[in-house]
Amino acid sequence: MSKSYKIIDHVYDVIVVGAGGAGLRATLGCAEAGLKTACISKVFPTRSHTVAAQGGISAALGNMGPDDWRWHMYDTVKGSDWLGDQDAIEYMCREAVPAVLELEHFGVPFSRTEEGKIYQRAFGGMTTEYGKGTAQRTCAAADRTGHAMLHTLYGQCLKHDVEFFIEYFGLDLLMTEEGACAGVLAWKLDDGTIHRFKAQMVILATGGYGRAYFSCTSAHTCTGDGGGMVLRAGLPLQDMEFVQFHPTGIYGAGCLITEGSRGEGGYLTNSKGERFMERYAPSAKDLASRDVVSRAMTIEIREGRGVGPKNDHIYLHLDHLDPAVLAERLPGISESAKIFAGVDVTKEPIPVLPTVHYNMGGIATNYHGEVLTKLNGDPDKVVPGLMAIGEAACVSVHGANRLGSNSLVDLVVFGRAAAIRAAKVVTPGAAPREAPAAATEKALDRFDKLRHAKGGSPTAGIRDQMQRTMQTNCAVFRTGDVLQEGCKLMDKVHGSWADVDVKDRSLVWNSDLVETLELDNLLGQAMVTMYSAANRQESRGAHAREDYPERDDKEWMKHTLAWCDERGKVTIDYRPVHTYTLTNEVQYIAPKARVY
Ligand SMILES: Cc1cc2nc3c(=O)[nH]c(=O)nc-3n(C[C@H](O)[C@H](O)[C@H](O)COP(=O)(O)OP(=O)(O)OC[C@H]3O[C@@H](n4cnc5c(N)ncnc54)[C@H](O)[C@@H]3O)c2cc1C
Repeated sequence: MSKSYKIIDHVYDVIVVGAGGAGLRATLGCAEAGLKTACISKVFPTRSHTVAAQGGISAALGNMGPDDWRWHMYDTVKGSDWLGDQDAIEYMCREAVPAVLELEHFGVPFSRTEEGKIYQRAFGGMTTEYGKGTAQRTCAAADRTGHAMLHTLYGQCLKHDVEFFIEYFGLDLLMTEEGACAGVLAWKLDDGTIHRFKAQMVILATGGYGRAYFSCTSAHTCTGDGGGMVLRAGLPLQDMEFVQFHPTGIYGAGCLITEGSRGEGGYLTNSKGERFMERYAPSAKDLASRDVVSRAMTIEIREGRGVGPKNDHIYLHLDHLDPAVLAERLPGISESAKIFAGVDVTKEPIPVLPTVHYNMGGIATNYHGEVLTKLNGDPDKVVPGLMAIGEAACVSVHGANRLGSNSLVDLVVFGRAAAIRAAKVVTPGAAPREAPAAATEKALDRFDKLRHAKGGSPTAGIRDQMQRTMQTNCAVFRTGDVLQEGCKLMDKVHGSWADVDVKDRSLVWNSDLVETLELDNLLGQAMVTMYSAANRQESRGAHAREDYPERDDKEWMKHTLAWCDERGKVTIDYRPVHTYTLTNEVQYIAPKARVY
């Protein structure tokens, strides 16, 4: 059947899939290094989810007081609840400083201090002197930092000889028989043609999979397509049980109110008007890390101290702050609160609820961005020709819990690192690897099968079942029974995939088919998330098990690797956490109790 599709071939040195912050930074770096580079994106680059990032990007610049990248590293290791790889965390926190200065030189319009330096605000879990003081480390362009970054990076890419393939939907990786990546197959959404991109290096920068859940802060495009492609290529995903709930999604709407609002002095209250965070995190209070604040809010609501007619949410107060500061530093969220909650932030509190926000898990990589798998006993086996960066990847710098403002920095640091590595391993103009014809056939057959799917279950119905199951059975607090039930329910949802129904058969602007392909990607990731969570019998970071309330470093200080085959069979294995640093400028930070 797939013979009926005409394939248009392209050859590049490097193909980047994704034009968010990570994809654009890698694209720029590869082009600067003289590699013939193309960037494929399913949406226009500046519509990628990075555009929505509000609060800022972390780097120990020390513009607002003393700071040190080693303190940033300590905070990140502690924030990760000791699941992060310390070589990668060292690399990120050191490189954060030049990476942000580089953004400034590219033209990102950061907010400024009186002396004209980049303005930095406080953020959760960011401290000075290894936990003693509060750091102001998060560089901000008002509360529209991602917007400023993404537009600047896109402009920089246009300056170089980058070719963009916009509104091309990446379908599948083309793998050789030896397990190397040779390219990617894509569908051009506006004319229905199929394109085969061959390259010496494919860099996946496809973002997170927040849409596996019913209520999330991420865009509708955050469907983890790169993770889906990786699972179908027979490769594992790492640490998928670690899903971050942001404490302050707007109640009902799910849109984000940045942590920067608490960084500027905002605080949470319950129905008794108490600032309850003082009880849960006596020193950091409202600026404890996100997992800690989300759990505290959930406990307050469960114990009957939620606000509103149903006592089912919490208030975020900004009404005590100077309206001039709100207008200057938090204009975007003031507007969101008005539109989505009908609240004037200068007068009333904002109704908020923990909402799915970020995926710590993803495609396993080393700190060069090279994709890893576990093979023949080697837990860090590099997959030739394939890299992953940004939220799609798990480097792992965020471990079990990401600190706010550490994702934007992850995008640019590892986007740049991937380009540096690509410049070393890719020979400009050399012939790419050849995947067998069967690889293209297989990818096209899947596409064609879904296009003609004629069952009894519309895509939207299956998606709804998946999202509700994830929201109910894999939430802020978890127990063995609820997770086991979640595995059974997800098996059922996955089973119903054989019965999916796609009404529109056309190849041009077929959003029904796009959503079906996206759901296929989400389903695999929802499966491994639920199974990985059921397997991990401890509490660490965002994974809070009520039946195993303690962190267990002896048994569980290891990364989960999970595979999922086409029939939905999940296989789980583990690989060790990197407990070493790259240089002797810093020592390995041994685990201790995590209190804020
Ligand atoms: C509302 C919100 C606010 C946030 N605020 C902050 C913050 O202040 N600080 C911080 O550090 N982090 C923040 N985060 C997290 C951070 O913004 C994200 O983790 C990060 O932007 C992800 O960037 P990315 O480049 O990995 O992917 P994205 O920006 O999500 O981009 C993904 C790209 O991949 C492309 N793509 C995906 N699938 C395909 C496919 N099949 N074919 C072709 N192209 C494809 C898309 O078109 C897009 O270009 C926030 C997140 C949200 C949701």
